[in-house]
Amino acid sequence: MPEAISSASGGKCLIGGRWVPPASGRTLPVICPSDGRVFAEIASGGAADIEAAVAAAREAFEKGAWGRLAAFERGRLLLRLSAAILEHAEELAALESRDTGKPLRQGRADIRACARYFEYYGGAADKLHGDTIPFLQGYTAASFWEPHGVTAHIIPWNYPAQIFGRSIGAALAAGNACVLKPAEDACLSVLRIGELALEIGLPEGALNIVPGLGEEAGAALAGHPGIDFLSFTGSPETGTAIQTAAARNHIGCTLELGGKSPQLLFADADLEAALPVVVNAIVQNAGQTCSAGSRVLIEKGIYEEVTGRLAARFRELVAGPHDRDLDLGPLINRSQLERVQHYLALAREGGVSVLAEGRLAEDLPPGGYYVAPVLLGPVPPDHPLAREEVFGPVLACLPFADEAEALALANATPYGLVAGVWTRDGARQLRLAHGIRAGQVFLNGYGAGGGIELPFGGVGRSGHGREKGFAGLYEFVRLKTIVWNHG
Ligand code: ADP
Repeated sequence: MPEAISSASGGKCLIGGRWVPPASGRTLPVICPSDGRVFAEIASGGAADIEAAVAAAREAFEKGAWGRLAAFERGRLLLRLSAAILEHAEELAALESRDTGKPLRQGRADIRACARYFEYYGGAADKLHGDTIPFLQGYTAASFWEPHGVTAHIIPWNYPAQIFGRSIGAALAAGNACVLKPAEDACLSVLRIGELALEIGLPEGALNIVPGLGEEAGAALAGHPGIDFLSFTGSPETGTAIQTAAARNHIGCTLELGGKSPQLLFADADLEAALPVVVNAIVQNAGQTCSAGSRVLIEKGIYEEVTGRLAARFRELVAGPHDRDLDLGPLINRSQLERVQHYLALAREGGVSVLAEGRLAEDLPPGGYYVAPVLLGPVPPDHPLAREEVFGPVLACLPFADEAEALALANATPYGLVAGVWTRDGARQLRLAHGIRAGQVFLNGYGAGGGIELPFGGVGRSGHGREKGFAGLYEFVRLKTIVWNHG
């Protein structure tokens, strides 16, 4: 029998400040990716629950205590939630790690980041200044930022707590009331943080959470005519459905849809600094990171040296259960494992060499979704491994002859999320930073998902809109211009 994860939120939805069973009474099993076993259950929400959650959010925004708070009071509540998350950090990290399969230290980092989002946006809540506008004689004109109203949030399973923090933190700071549909594959940390939100006194209806399947609860939320804005992180395919739903209701949306992010290594790069970062950018979260550095473009003169050194490191990497805290954990589920295996088969069929493989830990629990990290190269630029998102610990190496070819390769995928450029040549750093099609470019560094303060988002198939930083806050407000005719 699956244990309920806690008496409050186990198998329930958070609607209007109360934990309630879904209208259907149905639940979904929660599977630990490390052993494939069911260890908890969540609500399987549907259209009726979304209806109730949107109504509760509307009530909170228009008539409830939430809508009446001053900006600084909202900020204080978010700071309190941040503190509560830190007080429960160890418990939340263990939950996140078991639910997603990620190594415990990654779970800890994720919970700290989640707390930091609430801290960041809590501090920003009363700092959204408007503008005064020089206009005609006898008039005073000003523009004000106001919240959208009811915001909908659909988030994925790879970083539940972090993505919850960046999306909900910004939306609440701006004064919206939120309805969240977390991912069916992993959302226990989010539910637990929902409990903490009630404990610290977040007014009822400000945050509503309806767990459930994407095609049921997710589709019902995305298409609901009562929402004013939609924030989505997930796959490009679902992103298309989300944007279509938003278009039908004439509302805005942000889409963060993943990438095929490159790191460019020039012959003058500091390899001592670069190589550990290159490895970490694909190993972190077993490569299941939107901004994973899944391609490394290497100047020909150092190709052998770099691939040799990367291969040596890859051979040392070990994948195993989340609680053994190894280099990487299992993948989230069977279909994700099959997806990665499919890409590895494509590499074999295309004659792409495996330069090195990591290994699986001894005594793995049967039923887990493990894959050893793989280094491939040289990958032909038109091969799917060079262009498509694998979402697993698979790093593609591609050689380049000169800066022009490096730039062309960097921009040769439909995605554009993050890039890293490693060179000591300052002019080249800037040429590439401006030339690369991506939402973030790191020079002599790389942040796989890093940077609470740094605006983050994509172009092309990586989506549009920005999260994190102040830019993320501005997505959750809209500008109203007020004009006085005072003669
Ligand atoms: P992945 O393939 O990585 O699971 P998805 O884009 O399918 O990525 O999932 C991201 C989030 O979108 C999850 O919360 C999922 O339940 C939700 N989702 C999936 N399909 C739909 C849909 N048709 N409408 C709304 N949400 C969906």
